Amino acid sequence: MTVRDVLGNSEIPRRDAEFLLLHCVGQADRGWLIAHNLDEVPIQALDDFKAACQQRARGLPLAYIVGRREFWSLSLAVTPDVLIPRPETELLVEWVLEHIGPEDGKSMLDLGTGSGAIALACKHDAPSLTVTACDISARALAVANKNALDLSLSIEFLQSDWFSAMGDRRWSVIVANPPYVAHVDPHLSQGDLRFEPQGALTDGSDGLGAIRRIIEESPEYLERGGWLFIEHGYDQAKAVNTLFKARGFADISLRRDLAGRPRASGGCWQ
Ligand code: GLN
Repeated sequence: MTVRDVLGNSEIPRRDAEFLLLHCVGQADRGWLIAHNLDEVPIQALDDFKAACQQRARGLPLAYIVGRREFWSLSLAVTPDVLIPRPETELLVEWVLEHIGPEDGKSMLDLGTGSGAIALACKHDAPSLTVTACDISARALAVANKNALDLSLSIEFLQSDWFSAMGDRRWSVIVANPPYVAHVDPHLSQGDLRFEPQGALTDGSDGLGAIRRIIEESPEYLERGGWLFIEHGYDQAKAVNTLFKARGFADISLRRDLAGRPRASGGCWQ
């Protein structure tokens, strides 16, 4: 079958079919599909494509089918043990990088690193930054560690339930994309979220449980003048601001995503 016929006969949305076929033939650029429209698809690639389409038809996220997702221009391995990195999380990376500037000697802790996305992106752009990343899940840490090795980025990984394994250490910056979806949120049973680790998405209660704990405990792990940056839901900005204030943080500020929705909050510990 030709590329054109394979795409024409597939039963999943066209863009998904194109993405999966490119993956199965080992190409990355959509232009290849046009240039090779009338080429025969090799039999192995065709079998792989059919299997991938079946997975997609069952709802499996594209990132899990191909085992990769781009984040901050880095290609990361992802498995169902980690949340699929999202573009809005790049806001946190931007914020950390702006904040640390070109100075040496700064350190960062990424809480609940998952695939390692935030830690790896920050280390990639700020090689002199000392980066620690933790996760409660050993399986997530295995994925993050593989990504660090593949990208030759040096990160210290720790298995930890938030700060439980951090002892008396302190960092210049603490960053987190914690589970913040309320357990009653219907999105948890829709689309990609159905296949992602629930522990990375929801705290099992109102969506603010992990955020509360991180804001409460982080001053014990921040250097004087250090910053905490947290991603949260677009409707949680006010509650998160109140938590930062109540804990005694200064210079509390908010960042919005490309759609203008509040997405991340930060504060300075003095
Ligand atoms: N942004 C994700 C979503 O709503 C949630 C990620 C998270 O809970 N940290 O799909």
